[in-house]
Amino acid sequence: MKKLLGTGAMLLLIIYLLPVCYRIYAGTALGDRAKDVLAAYAETGQEQPAEGLSEPLQDGQAAAGGDPGSENGQGGSSVWNPMGSTVQPSDAPADSPAAAPDRQPGLLNGDITVLVHGEPQTMPLETYVEGVVAAEISPDFPEDAIRAQAVAARTYAVSKINAGRPMQHRNADICDDYTHCAAYLDLAAAASARWGASADANTQKIQKAVCDTAGEIITKDGEAIVAVFHAASAARTESAKDIWGSDIPYLQSVVSPGGSACEKYEGTVRLTLDEFRIRVLENYPAADLSGDPKRWFSASTRSEAGAVITCTLGGVQVKGADLRTIFGLNSSNFTLTINDQTIAFHTIGYGHGVGLSQYGAKYLAEQGSRYPEILSHYYPGTELTRLQV
Ligand SMILES: [Zn+2]
Repeated sequence: MKKLLGTGAMLLLIIYLLPVCYRIYAGTALGDRAKDVLAAYAETGQEQPAEGLSEPLQDGQAAAGGDPGSENGQGGSSVWNPMGSTVQPSDAPADSPAAAPDRQPGLLNGDITVLVHGEPQTMPLETYVEGVVAAEISPDFPEDAIRAQAVAARTYAVSKINAGRPMQHRNADICDDYTHCAAYLDLAAAASARWGASADANTQKIQKAVCDTAGEIITKDGEAIVAVFHAASAARTESAKDIWGSDIPYLQSVVSPGGSACEKYEGTVRLTLDEFRIRVLENYPAADLSGDPKRWFSASTRSEAGAVITCTLGGVQVKGADLRTIFGLNSSNFTLTINDQTIAFHTIGYGHGVGLSQYGAKYLAEQGSRYPEILSHYYPGTELTRLQV
């Protein structure tokens, strides 16, 4: 009898552990597959050669594109401070989250107040996440890319709540302006206009991805990270340090395949020399744009991933990120073509290039990666945690 009980207990233990073992095995197998894909890509699959530091800016290649893409946390015409608010260009010191007067204690009841078209609306966090996913990523992307986006959006929202309400909207935790916080749309109200006959199917896809990851956020040392994302990077993502000047351990440059699937992966902005001169002088009155236009730009520095960090324009040092804003460039990873009449910026990638690449997530999901793996790739050294509400 004793032996029978022992055998029964053993059988129960095996039955109980089987799914766990399978999950561990499946996770390992998928992890290895993604590692192989990324390693092969890092060695051979460079979609755009890295241009290194101090490369000349001129003589890029031209192309144009046109599908909507997205990013968050860019900060509009300001330099974005990854710790929670925007500051004006010119290296103003970062606001300390602790100094924010309306600091919130965290998620007390699972609700968030969102500024939608200028009006504050309080809603469940999960409803907000559905609205961000709907606005930020195509429902045609693979499930695990959409799940990764859902977790990034939820994490970004929680980090905003924890940082306290910013100067720009003291009446809301977050706003629907993607250049300041993250794009958002009311899924129930917007689905028909956005997707027509596919509205119900797409709504279900989005709600399933959010539900599958309900309450999950990305943390570092127990804190929700600032989970910035963008549409498509070049062959590598950019680091927060290179783009915004803040060295964030989990926002480093990593290999990022699949960006070229984005229609706006390559782009061109062309201006006449007069248009260019006027725009530059509006922003940099001290710039000297006389003489040969081919000599206007000099002394550029680039990030490892290819973005122009700084360059000298008419004798004035300017930031690549600021030129991106001034000229409406798809990214700050650009080269120039200058002739007697025009100046053209040729860009690679779409968005600021930091954190999760949506097209990179799509590619990895198509290769079999699950969303935890995608997130740990784009936010290295972080953990997936479930919110306690
Ligand atoms: Zn905002």
